[in-house]
Parts: sequence; C-alpha cells; structure tokens
Amino acid sequence: MAFEYAPAPESPAIVNIRPSYGLFINGEFVDPKDGERFKTVNPANEEVLAEVASAGPSDVDTAVAAARAAYDTVWRRLPGRERAKYLFRIARIIQERARELAVLESIDNGKPIRESRDVDVPLVAAHFFYYAGWADKLPYAGLGPDPRPLGVAGQVIPWNFPLLMLAWKIAPALAAGNTVVLKPAETTPLSALLFAEICQQADLPPGVVNIVTGAGDTGRLLVEHDGVDKVAFTGSTEVGRLIAKSVAGTRKRLTLELGGKAANIVFDDAPIDQAVEGIVNGIFFNQGHVCCAGSRLLVQESVAEELLDALKRRMAQLRVGDPLDKNTDVGAINSAAQLEKIRSLSEIGESEGAQRWSPPCELPERGFWFAPTIFTGVSQAHRIAREEIFGPVLSVLTFRTPAEAVEKANNTPYGLSAGIWSEKGSRILAVADRLRAGVVWANTFNKFDPTSPFGGYKESGYGREGGRHGLEAYLAH
Ligand code: NAP
Ligand code: MG
Repeated sequence: MAFEYAPAPESPAIVNIRPSYGLFINGEFVDPKDGERFKTVNPANEEVLAEVASAGPSDVDTAVAAARAAYDTVWRRLPGRERAKYLFRIARIIQERARELAVLESIDNGKPIRESRDVDVPLVAAHFFYYAGWADKLPYAGLGPDPRPLGVAGQVIPWNFPLLMLAWKIAPALAAGNTVVLKPAETTPLSALLFAEICQQADLPPGVVNIVTGAGDTGRLLVEHDGVDKVAFTGSTEVGRLIAKSVAGTRKRLTLELGGKAANIVFDDAPIDQAVEGIVNGIFFNQGHVCCAGSRLLVQESVAEELLDALKRRMAQLRVGDPLDKNTDVGAINSAAQLEKIRSLSEIGESEGAQRWSPPCELPERGFWFAPTIFTGVSQAHRIAREEIFGPVLSVLTFRTPAEAVEKANNTPYGLSAGIWSEKGSRILAVADRLRAGVVWANTFNKFDPTSPFGGYKESGYGREGGRHGLEAYLAH
C-alpha cells in the first residue's frame, strides 16, 4: 500500500502583487506614455495577476536616455570597489527576500516552488555575489590591463528562468561598469519588477538599471535603438536571427544565447539508477522549458530496455500539479501558446511513427498542463528529434558504438549542451572532446554555477555568460 502525500502548499501571502505596474525608468515606476497595458496570468489557474505597462517607442527612448545619463555622470566614474558595494547589497537583499522572490516566480511562471526556492533564487544571489567580486578586479580578468565598459546595454530575456536570466544579464553588465535597459518576457514580468524594487531598496543610483516591460515589439525597439552600445539576447534562434540582422553593420556588440536540442548519452557501463535521475532532471526540470534540456536521450542498445523500464517506473512517481505545493515535481506550462506548441510537435511525433508514452497522471482542470512524455522508436529524421520542443517531452534514440553516439549527438543545428553517462573516465573525456556543445556534463545534468561559462555553438548562439568569460561581453579591451 502506498501512502498518499498530504498537500504541502507554500503560502502566497508573503508576496504583495500590485494590481498595476508601471515601467521602471530612472529609479522610479512611471506610467507608459501611451497608457497601454497588458495582463500577466498565473499559468496554473489562468487567473489574472496584474496589469503591466507596455513600453512604446518614446518609453524606450526615455529608458535608454536615463541609462546613458547614469552611465556618463555616475556609474562609469565610480571606482570598481564602489560598484561592488551596490552589487553585494543587491545580492544580500535577494537572499533576505528569497522566499518572496521564489513564490512570485512560481506564481507568474508556473515552475514548482521546490525549484524556484532551491535552484533559481539561490543561483540569482550567487550570480550577483560572484560578479560583485569581479567589479574591482577587472584588470585581472585576462582582458588586458585596462578593460573599459561599453556603455548602455539593451538586454532581452525569455520566460523560462525570468529572474535567473535577469541576473545573468544585469550582474556582469553592472560589474563591468555598464548601465542597462532590460526587457523581460511578456508572460513573466513580475519578478523583474520586484527586482526593480530591490534596486530602489539598495539605493542603486537612478538610471543604472531600467526595466521596460512589453511584448516582442518592445524588445525590437530596444535592440534597434541607436543609443544602445551592446545587445544581449536570450531566446529563440528565430528571434536571435532577426536581432543579428538588425544589429549587423552598426557599432553595437552582440551576444546571443539561443535554443538547444541536447543529447544525453548513456553508455552500457553507466550506473542505471543515477542515469535515470539525470535523464529525469535533464528533461522534466522546469517542465522542460530549458534551453540546455537533455531532450534527446541516446542510449546504448544493449541497455536500452533495462534503462527504459527504470525510466518509466521513475516517471510514474513524478508529481504534476500545483506549483506552490512543496511536493510538486512538474508544474504548469508557461502559456497557452507554449502548450499548443508542445501538443502539436507531440502529435507530429506520433504521426511520424514514434511511440508515445506517459505515466497515468491526473492533470488539473484549469491552467496549462502537459504530462511528462517519452517517445521511443525515434529516428534522426523525425521532427521531434530535430526541433526544440521546450516542454516535458523526451525523444529516445539508440546507438551501438561510441562513434555512432558522437555522430548522432552532433547531428543537430544546435550546440548548447550535452550529457555523458559512463563509469569510465577515459571514455567520458574522449567523447566530451568530440561533442560540439558549449557545456558537457559528465554523470550529472543541468548543473549551473556562476563561475562556469555557459553558451552555444552553431545555431545555439555566440558569446558566453557566467565566469570570467561572461565579463568579456561587457568590456572593450
Ligand atoms: P523568444 O520568443 O525568442 O523570446 C525571447 C525574448 O525576446 C522575449 O522577451 C520576447 O518578448 C522577445 N522578443 C520577441 N520578438 C522579438 C524581436 N523581434 N526583437 C526583440 N525581442 C523580441 O523566445 P521564448 O519562446 O520566449 O523563449 C524560449 C527560447 O529561449 C528557447 O528557444 C530557448 O532555448 C531559449 N533560451 C535560451 C537560453 C540560453 O541561455 N541559450 C536560455 C533560456 C532560453 P515576448 O516574450 O514578450 O514576446
Ligand atoms: Mg505569467
């Protein structure tokens, strides 16, 4: 007999969501000039959470001008150790308000509180602490004796890790002496707006950080703005291409963190139970809304049956439901549009002849939900093996030799991450060396650390975030 879990909800009472939010420009919340607003919803129940300002051309102008003025008059003139004090202060406030940030992130995004509490928010604080430490040591970053900030950075981020992507963008930019205008994703603006309050609380000089909410068009206005010196984008390869075109031929510097279709390779000598945990973490963490998700499982033929049996047993234990329940493993899909994309690619998987399997699992009636799913009998030509699904859907392929595994792993236009499971160190090193991926995990998956650079090959983009390498994107040398 199995005991049922009792509900263990985290209280939302700690967060105070305002009915309406302005744009954060020059240290203050201001109304959008043309008065346009949009709604953000809780994807777990489709309830409207707040109305958020939509920044138009003149709002983006004002934000860029505020960032420029703050850059010229204050931020670039401050010694690194003074900038560091602000970043340390922000990092400490993030730790103090960690629970509030985690709850808000789960409400606006749909991700399980266990993840926002134990992964997203601690990594956000760690990122600010890490780059705070660099602010007064830039001449030692390996970029020459006198690296200089670039100026105003225009930064656009996606909805899958709203606050973490903000930290990846803002912390190195500020440490290096730049000021920023950041546009969060339309479906997840609330944690960025709470971060704006944290900037006020930290007494950050006005204009150093500006947050302009809005849809894709606001992002376009920002990256195309003449007053921006540096563009940093995380999102889809499709939009990345548009941005690369619009920035081409200008003086702007550009980094792109785009999509992925990572191979998670399991050799016959791998510890099966650990590999199963790694596969589950690789594709079901954050509902699979992860650019570096291990969305293609490559398993050695001789252990495929044993591994798939163990994986299905494990998947049957995943708890799908209320993101605020501390026992939830898989939360809500972020939006109706994303749910539709996952559904349609999964239907294509079936129609192309792959076998679909999900554990029995009851999904809530309201909100956007998709059961953890695997496809077996997938061939390299199938669209579910080639395209990023960005949901809790795993495509399983098999291989016989290490050379075949490498061949298949690299057979993708992307190159963001990969995983290798094997008992044998020499095999791990030999295979890792031949994988065209920015990050290769060995006997683990989806491990992040601010000291470690992250970024892609090929259509996964260019430039690195994190570590000493992440400073390079924000410094002239
Ligand atoms: P997306 O559609 O490209 O959106 C990303 C951001 O760009 C959003 O803020 C979006 O605004 C904005 N945007 C849309 N059109 C734009 C335009 N023409 N000009 C400027 N900005 C524009 O991507 P998504 O679907 O939100 O995010 C999922 C993608 O991000 C996946 O492909 C994933 O792999 C990738 N990702 C990559 C990394 C990485 O580090 N490599 C990390 C996380 C996610 P709205 O959302 O308001 O439309
Ligand atoms: Mg939302």
